[in-house]
Amino acid sequence: MQARLKKIGDNTNIKEMKPVSGGDINQAFYVRTETREYFVKKNQDVPADFFQKEAEGLEHIRRTNTIRVPKVYSYDNVSFGEEKYLIMEWIEGEKSKATGHLLGEQLAQLHLTETSPQYGMHGSTFVGEITQPNDFYDDWLTYYREKRLQPQLEIGINKGTITMERREHFEKLLQRIDQYIPKYPRVSLLHGDLWGGNWITGHNGLPYLIDPSIVYGDHAFEIAFTELFGGFPSDFYKSYQHFYPLPDYYDEIKPLYQLFYLLLHLNLFGESYGASVDHILRRYT
Ligand code: ADP
Repeated sequence: MQARLKKIGDNTNIKEMKPVSGGDINQAFYVRTETREYFVKKNQDVPADFFQKEAEGLEHIRRTNTIRVPKVYSYDNVSFGEEKYLIMEWIEGEKSKATGHLLGEQLAQLHLTETSPQYGMHGSTFVGEITQPNDFYDDWLTYYREKRLQPQLEIGINKGTITMERREHFEKLLQRIDQYIPKYPRVSLLHGDLWGGNWITGHNGLPYLIDPSIVYGDHAFEIAFTELFGGFPSDFYKSYQHFYPLPDYYDEIKPLYQLFYLLLHLNLFGESYGASVDHILRRYT
């Protein structure tokens, strides 16, 4: 660790190093030298570019100057089986009265200002540990169908989590999903994996985003996921809506956007997510 920190220009001694709990994928550490504090993640059983994608996503969001992310100092890109580190800025602080409001305002600014002529992203990314195939598309509907729902359907068929009955409903849904998902919503840069565990609080109660899986798409897709597992204060929604109102049809399509994440969880963790998936499939077919 000392040698790694030296490489990024910190020649002072390590004073403290302790594990941080809470991550479900990597080992995480707090490291303090005489001059700085770091958050370090370590993993060997992930693809070579796993930390690179995370670092690039954070850097992409950071460059928008809209919402804070931890500064990345270094990452490794070495083969599966070899030890990889991601070294970034340590973030710590207490929530203030303004935290939820700022999170809503700054996420809205990210969605409003960072845009692209097309939907999607170049090259695959990761949602958690799962590889997310990506490409650029001229319309969001086709991207959502081909790069989000269909790949999860295929994974589920192979794994056996998608039963015959689910498959029939699913295929029916894919045929009629154009009635619901917009083709040309405004293009926003999305964090892409924004559940309650992927934002943290820094000094002065300032919100930070972590662990992104960036993609250009419909901002309603992002907000739908924030609502799936909770962890966002009501101030967040109030201020988000103030700065970037959701479309009138949001409530109608929210379950269809949550479906992607539910399928991902069904394929990862199994049948405990089955009933929620079935509920949505039945509603729209
Ligand atoms: P994983 O990638 O394994 O899911 P996380 O990125 O979620 O790991 O981080 C694990 C824990 O460390 C979480 O509880 C998170 O709140 C905390 N954490 C993440 N990034 C930082 C950071 N830059 N500074 C301080 N704590 C962090």
